[in-house]
Amino acid sequence: MEGGKNQFWRWYRNWFDRVHDVAFHIVRDPSISAEVTRDVFIDAWHDLDRGADEMTGGRLLRNARTRALNRLTYDRRDRKNHPDAAFDRRTPGIDASNVRIDLDRRHRVLLAVSSTLGNRDASILSLHLRDGLDATELADELGVSCDDAPPVLARLRTGLNDAIAAWTCWNDGAPVCPGLRNLVERGRMSDFDRATAKAVITHVHWCDACTAQHRRGAPPEEVYAGVPVLIAPETLRHDVTIALERSGILIPAAGALADEAPIAGSSPPGASTPEPELPVVADRSSGRRTQQTVLAVGLASLLLALLFIALRVGLG
Ligand SMILES: [Zn+2]
Repeated sequence: MEGGKNQFWRWYRNWFDRVHDVAFHIVRDPSISAEVTRDVFIDAWHDLDRGADEMTGGRLLRNARTRALNRLTYDRRDRKNHPDAAFDRRTPGIDASNVRIDLDRRHRVLLAVSSTLGNRDASILSLHLRDGLDATELADELGVSCDDAPPVLARLRTGLNDAIAAWTCWNDGAPVCPGLRNLVERGRMSDFDRATAKAVITHVHWCDACTAQHRRGAPPEEVYAGVPVLIAPETLRHDVTIALERSGILIPAAGALADEAPIAGSSPPGASTPEPELPVVADRSSGRRTQQTVLAVGLASLLLALLFIALRVGLG
């Protein structure tokens, strides 16, 4: 079991960013995505403890999606039931309120697709196209049998292609095509939501200029699949690691991971396999201890200097 627990940290280290990426693109809040990431790995730890089915990267990502969607549902329900209450479901332990996650244009396409197709469908497409899960693995998420999953997934992909075509031609509210620009300005479509996407795609379907512009770019699915995994800020990773440790998941001794061969799947496909290293957990008390030592040495030096001066004055 000890080896299994060390392997857990290998999975944690190698899959952290992908799990967080799935959670963040659904909840869009650093604190909440950190909490979801923590809970996914706590679940994985308990699964390991119970000797449940072997851990896979696909399972971690699917759990991240489920937990993130559930969290959104609970939060919305709370807001509805307590509209006047100051709303904060954040649990103590992880405070990422100061963490900013800047999304570049490539990541914003994921948010645009989510606002058009909805989080449920968009997150399935992301698991499929960006993380490589196939239709069979996603059958539960699609709510169908494994045999019925491929055509359902294909329908989602058609919707995705339309959504990205619309987003590309909308061009942050400043379309190149004069006809579309006129439509966007008249309709005040400064935000890319479901209604904007619908209006834009209707235009694109009959507009030769927009269709040609859209065809000149990379195929929509490639655009979507090529969005890189968001690298979580180090402070956030640190907070989650501390939270796992506080929930009783002990960090292995230094060097423990280096002695073990990694098991298959513990690194995402295509990821480089860096030298095993322990999770970086800065000991916050050591910082305080260093400050105290510096202060003590400073005070001692001052006292010695005063003593020296007093002696000189006394001798003089
Ligand atoms: Zn056009």
